[in-house]
Amino acid sequence: MTTPAAPSPSSPPASGQLIPELQSFGIRLADPRAGAPSRRGGAGPSDHKAVIIDGRAVMVPVHTAGAFRSPFLAEAPDADGTALVRRDGAPVGRIRFPGQPRFYALQTMDGIPYSKIAVLHGADVLATTVLQTCIRYQSRTRTCRFCAIGQSLAAGRTIARKTPEQLAEVARAAVLLDGVRHMVMTTGTPATSDRGAAILCDSAAAVKAAVDLPIQGQCEPPDDDAWFTRMRDAGIDALGMHLEAVTPEVRARIMPGKAGVPLERYYAAFRAAVPVFGRGQVSTYILAGLGDSRAAILDMAERLIAMGVYPFVVPFVPVTGTPLEDHPPPDATFMRDLLAPIGAMLKAAGMRSSDSKAGCGKCGACSSLASFEA
Ligand code: SF4
Repeated sequence: MTTPAAPSPSSPPASGQLIPELQSFGIRLADPRAGAPSRRGGAGPSDHKAVIIDGRAVMVPVHTAGAFRSPFLAEAPDADGTALVRRDGAPVGRIRFPGQPRFYALQTMDGIPYSKIAVLHGADVLATTVLQTCIRYQSRTRTCRFCAIGQSLAAGRTIARKTPEQLAEVARAAVLLDGVRHMVMTTGTPATSDRGAAILCDSAAAVKAAVDLPIQGQCEPPDDDAWFTRMRDAGIDALGMHLEAVTPEVRARIMPGKAGVPLERYYAAFRAAVPVFGRGQVSTYILAGLGDSRAAILDMAERLIAMGVYPFVVPFVPVTGTPLEDHPPPDATFMRDLLAPIGAMLKAAGMRSSDSKAGCGKCGACSSLASFEA
């Protein structure tokens, strides 16, 4: 975020300080059509919009209840997509809204818009949910309470199963037309013991045959560690197995189904996956603000880093329509107090998000963690 042309009554804060606040409060848009279409529902950063701040892509909530009350307002962007941001009326900086990806204008031979198969995340990430259904989402008592995987499917904004051929076609177009540099393939959990690893293998192999694009696969720990080698051999360069919450109490409350997979299984899977993919190429997503204390998340981060696993800690964002839609996001001070020591731990361990080949840690748009690694 650069200093605005209009003079501010007080010095605008540095952009690195503003990012946690924008991600915590969200932002109101004077022109809701600004930038690329935002996502509502689905896996990943729902109810957000990508904006560019000081050259970095940042996912900022725009459709959450909190965002509608945010002290931050983005004015209508100019022809370049640049907009002045005000906090309680005072200018605090500028952001840029990236334009609509060109591949969104295309569709498959059988008439499926490419944007229903994969979407642009951050600045240069192609993201897809290969299987848009999940065994855990089918029961109110087992669903992860933050998850909206079924919403975009119910609204017709995506399709239930993306075939390897469709993914390869869209990936090739996204690379050629929009300069996409890596791909995130996540999946709802199927009722098979591989937890989606087989689907990811088929999808990655097809994409890699079509285009040279680094891929992060994301799934629950499969039943058999041999899947890690199979995934790597199929073309998956980095792996995410997401804890989401770190203490047994919070896991049981927030994700009653997935909490049935014990933390010990995750630790064992991490230990088996790191030698296959490499140190720093295995990661986990941790949602801060769901009840885990700062100390508990820091302890877990320390443990993970010692195993060679990148702890991608992101502020929880309540998604409209989920059971946690009224749960407040963590405030910016909590996030800074969490991310600063994790950044220092990563630096001491020589583990940097920029060294990961693909995935959320490399993208970094959902968390300002990377700015604390410097
Ligand atoms: S950090 Fe991950 S979930 Fe967030 S925008 Fe980037 S790729 Fe998507």
